[in-house]
Amino acid sequence: MSMDAKVERARQEFGDRNPRSRRYFESARQVLPGGHTRTVLTHLPFPLVFATGEGSTLTDIDGHVYVDMLGDYTAGLLGHSERRVLDAVALALTSNASVGGIHPAEAPLARHMCDRFGLERVRFTNSGTEANLMAITTALMATGRSRVMVFQGGYHGGLLYFATGQARWNAPYEFVVASYNDTDATLKLIKEIGPNLAALLVEPMLGAGGCIPADTQFLQAAFGAAREAGAVVIADEVMTSRHGATGMAALLGVRPDLATYGKYIGGGFSFGAFGGAAVLMDQYDTSPAVGHVSPIAHAGTFNNNIATMTAGTVVLGEVFTASVAKDHMARGNEFRSLIMDVVSRSGVPVSVTGFGSMMSLHARIPAPTDAVQAADRDAELQELIFLGLLQRGIYTAPRGMINLSLAHTDDDLAAALDALADCLSALHS
Ligand code: PMP
Repeated sequence: MSMDAKVERARQEFGDRNPRSRRYFESARQVLPGGHTRTVLTHLPFPLVFATGEGSTLTDIDGHVYVDMLGDYTAGLLGHSERRVLDAVALALTSNASVGGIHPAEAPLARHMCDRFGLERVRFTNSGTEANLMAITTALMATGRSRVMVFQGGYHGGLLYFATGQARWNAPYEFVVASYNDTDATLKLIKEIGPNLAALLVEPMLGAGGCIPADTQFLQAAFGAAREAGAVVIADEVMTSRHGATGMAALLGVRPDLATYGKYIGGGFSFGAFGGAAVLMDQYDTSPAVGHVSPIAHAGTFNNNIATMTAGTVVLGEVFTASVAKDHMARGNEFRSLIMDVVSRSGVPVSVTGFGSMMSLHARIPAPTDAVQAADRDAELQELIFLGLLQRGIYTAPRGMINLSLAHTDDDLAAALDALADCLSALHS
């Protein structure tokens, strides 16, 4: 059977298995363009609708149970029913849902963030997108410069999208898009821009771009050159702060001036944060003692919302401590090498990239080292793997992303490996 026909059959079977999700989707499309409100969830013939989650599993509205190997694109690190977080939030919400003032859970979360990630100061936002917009703004205001270096394949938020270079809908900063993991070209570009470069914004590993880690030497050289040019160096750790005790930048031997955070730290509630050097962050200090003539205003009704502040304090203080983070990274590395074994034994042209508990399957060989290579893959094979895994009860991202959560049991991981082996072997028939 041709690949086209296999894809057509897989979509048909998926549609037949999920009549309730289909009906929901068709009705939702009348009021939500595309039937949902997160573009990343799109796939053919329609995305699943989930009714409940428990531990490491999700149940859709047609009653199928899946091992959740996606972990909400890293935001679901804790799994679906971490009682310590949910109970603390439920308790906090019995007295107040929104205070319109300062709440006692705010500074403790800030303290956890500073201690854990080596920040001198931090401020909260509602999303990783906002955190990056604010970090860029912080750099522009501090330097008085205008240009911002980002990387092809980078993703820093809905308005900071560089999957294929500069998106037309991006926020109107003066971006310069460099090539990820290309040290010579990046250093040359930094030299050219020199005194106009306000910031370098980079993910220690391209997340949405395919779980492609930065080469240590590339990242260190880019940080050094940008700093020498007088720019502010910003690490986007929205996804990667889960790695090791203090986040991935430190593991690659670099220390940014500012870093941005999001995802799992909010324990499933909307979260974002940016922080770093006091000399930059104190541009937001409005206290008279500092005597700033014109601090930067940073408002946001829900920046300090009670649910997130409470959840985050429990996440960093009790659940995902530095030692749990280190163990989780080791478990991820081990699982990724098992996935690689399954893939290489299958003889199907698929590669695996990643770091720690984040990884991606790519329908191409060899494994990509930048986003241009990652995009150059067999789209039909990628779709067949995604739909084949769903059919076998394993939920991943259409683009191949897999993220381990704290809720995964050894049996879950074994089931995922078996399903992948079975799915790849079925592709030979
Ligand atoms: N930065 C990175 C590296 C991300 O992966 C994401 C989200 N996928 C964001 C920023 C944006 O975060 P949010 O979706 O919370 O706006």
